[in-house]
Amino acid sequence: MNFNVISPETTDELLEVISENQGNKFRFGAGCSDLLLELKKQPDEDMTVVNLARLNDDRFTSIEKTDDGIRIGALVTANGITFDKELQRQFPVLYESANKLGSRQIRQVATIGGNLCTASPAADIACALVALEARCEILSAGGTARVIPINDFFIDVRKTDLRKDEILRSVFIALNSENEKIYSGFIKIGTRRSMEIAVVSLAFHIQADEDDKITHAGIAVGSVAPTIKFANSACEYLIGKNYSAIGSSASEEFAAKVLEYASPISDIRASAWYREEVLYNISKSIFE
Ligand SMILES: Cc1cc2nc3c(=O)[nH]c(=O)nc-3n(C[C@H](O)[C@H](O)[C@H](O)COP(=O)(O)OP(=O)(O)OC[C@H]3O[C@@H](n4cnc5c(N)ncnc54)[C@H](O)[C@@H]3O)c2cc1C
Repeated sequence: MNFNVISPETTDELLEVISENQGNKFRFGAGCSDLLLELKKQPDEDMTVVNLARLNDDRFTSIEKTDDGIRIGALVTANGITFDKELQRQFPVLYESANKLGSRQIRQVATIGGNLCTASPAADIACALVALEARCEILSAGGTARVIPINDFFIDVRKTDLRKDEILRSVFIALNSENEKIYSGFIKIGTRRSMEIAVVSLAFHIQADEDDKITHAGIAVGSVAPTIKFANSACEYLIGKNYSAIGSSASEEFAAKVLEYASPISDIRASAWYREEVLYNISKSIFE
């Protein structure tokens, strides 16, 4: 493989590089776990890789707690997420998604920004962030930032809302309401136990009051549609119900609502029928 690599160290340098390369073919490289495979499959001599690994800017590289939420820089790795006790406590769904991503070696380099910007329907951390209704902070070459709901970030398979002169800087997750119970997790079904891209995945983050009445629900499904889907009607169905009293008929109704968001294809790893069956069953299993 032969391509140019530029490694900006400050955000000013980064923005300058983005501006200067608007007329050229270029890609950002963070952990490069996806990018290198892609460039290996389709080598392009004219390609410039803007290597983000040397960027020294906390807004890209750190996890920051604010009064109302947690901001995670796009260059934080899957391991960085799993090592953060506050994220683990507040958002088990995010912790589990990062912990189930690839192998230890992949988690060491795979960034949250790369996971989102690949826009794969099977991306694990992205699925958890959709359930958490995260917001994406996007920086343009001109230095202005815009913030959009993560649901608007994914346009199609491998296509995001990012323009050529933009880069994802961070994601923001609102804190859970105080004193609420949290039922949160990430279910990933693959064809083998490790190093497997999801055949179906389900992320859930449900909050309930002291009487176990559900006050907020975030449900997202992966690998069953061109993009990760937020299962809105399934979330609405849960509001006001008592979590521990949800029995088999309510969990079946809930699972049927989750299934409305699935339009899977059959491919080499699983048939559409299998994906739907699995999604239905894992959706029910949340309440078992
Ligand atoms: C062996 C193997 C196993 C894997 N297993 C899993 C798995 O189980 N689950 C899973 O979800 N993924 C898996 N992946 C895919 C990959 O590791 C993840 O998606 C990872 O999070 C990508 O992060 P990265 O930093 O390596 O991205 P990169 O490869 O650096 O970039 C990926 C894409 O995002 C763009 N990009 C990166 N950062 C930004 C940014 N800040 N702003 C704009 N664009 C950006 C790049 O230009 C590129 O197009 C696996 C990959 C491999 C090779």
